[in-house]
Amino acid sequence: MLETPEQSAAGRFDTVLIANRGEIAVRIQRACRELGLKTVAICSEADREAPYGSTADSLLCIGPSSAAKSYLNQDAILLAARLAGAGAIHPGYGFLSENAAFADAAEKAGLTFIGPTSSSIATMGDKISAKRAMMAAGVPCVPGPDTALPDDPATIERIALEIGYPVIIKAAGGGGGRGMRVVPKADVLHEAIALTREEARKAFGSPSLYMEKFLEHPRHIEIQVICDDHGNAVWLGHRDCSMQRRHQKVVEEAPAAGIVPDIIQPVGMACVQACLQIGYRGVGTFEFLYEDGAFYFIEMNTRLQVEHPVTEMTSGVDIVQAQIKAAQGHVLDLNQGDVTCEGHSFECRINAEDPNSFLPSAGVVTHLALPTGPGIRVDTHIHAGYKVSPYYDSLIAKLIVHAPTRAEAMARMREALAGTEVEGISTNIPFLRALFEDGAFAQGETDIHYLEQWLKLRRAA
Ligand code: ADP
Repeated sequence: MLETPEQSAAGRFDTVLIANRGEIAVRIQRACRELGLKTVAICSEADREAPYGSTADSLLCIGPSSAAKSYLNQDAILLAARLAGAGAIHPGYGFLSENAAFADAAEKAGLTFIGPTSSSIATMGDKISAKRAMMAAGVPCVPGPDTALPDDPATIERIALEIGYPVIIKAAGGGGGRGMRVVPKADVLHEAIALTREEARKAFGSPSLYMEKFLEHPRHIEIQVICDDHGNAVWLGHRDCSMQRRHQKVVEEAPAAGIVPDIIQPVGMACVQACLQIGYRGVGTFEFLYEDGAFYFIEMNTRLQVEHPVTEMTSGVDIVQAQIKAAQGHVLDLNQGDVTCEGHSFECRINAEDPNSFLPSAGVVTHLALPTGPGIRVDTHIHAGYKVSPYYDSLIAKLIVHAPTRAEAMARMREALAGTEVEGISTNIPFLRALFEDGAFAQGETDIHYLEQWLKLRRAA
């Protein structure tokens, strides 16, 4: 990798506070150590004994078990960074990772926020301004205006007619699959708007809504980008995250099956162009819906994503290290021509939950066996004896495989899942094993509704 003396003063740090927990805290620590950086872990009272605390150079307990009082407590985290002598904060994913005010507060406290600028986070955090920025950069978006819906009922009706039913009403500040409502036909339009507006006001603090075409059978395909502070950006190929339950990704893969270079290339380049246009720094993901051969931008995630390993496996790029180096002010050591994606990768999210009801399952892991072998990677923070707490999300491990072809990667995942044993708590492993035996999934190119329909059929059988 090309090292550069052109680091800005703000980018000079030798200690990183990781404002997160679980597998991603372990992953970021590993990247920091390999770059010769010291790490500061933070924990809540529930995580006091968690092993990620003992592998960091220092550990500070920042609050009670409730995330609101610990991992989301901005003042406590900034104080911890000061006390531990950290020069940078890595937010991981979730928690404060897409909080523009936190990124701003960190920078104001003299810390480097390992992520984009707070203004990039704010622009992309509002779905209307994100859509406007993407349209301006030539990224294809879902049909519909890039402005908030007005109050006038007649104008709203005209917009819906222009788009064509079915349409979807979305909250500008929405997230986590909430604040959206599908409108199949005109007679329920105003009622849907009133309900979504009220929901948006309560959940996101803003009544701002917009309208777009509702796509009926799309796939979820996303593009990973990495940018430096010197006007360089590349895209690292694409992923398919259509295997979702309640808008939550369950299995991800790279590349997306059946997507030929001719069709994805212009979209990838448009994403790069958009990054340069908005002065984006660090890693990010452009999420698209893909239907009938066309891509439609839905949102950008301005952070590291859970599913980044499938892209690491195919591109050979350590995305977390690249992200940290970008924050250090290094010039990106990759040109687009250097990016070559090889083989196929799958990731299974292993959750502590009942495989049928999907209710979270807390408790002590009494036995743990993890698979090994060529092309198998496990990102986890747990061990035999680990106590899964009820306070946080249920992700306990990510099982990742890589093989020359999609069929071989599926076979490798079946083998890896067969070699994964977790006892003492319930996990979704039985469900994942069954999914990897499914014929339509093996064929590839299933849409975002496939998994829920498959679950419904299984329940009925
Ligand atoms: P969030 O920020 O809440 O995750 P997104 O805008 O990313 O919201 O959308 C989440 C999911 O909602 C998508 O993955 C897709 O399943 C569905 N969705 C969003 N917009 C549309 C649309 N225009 N047509 C069909 N489905 C959509």
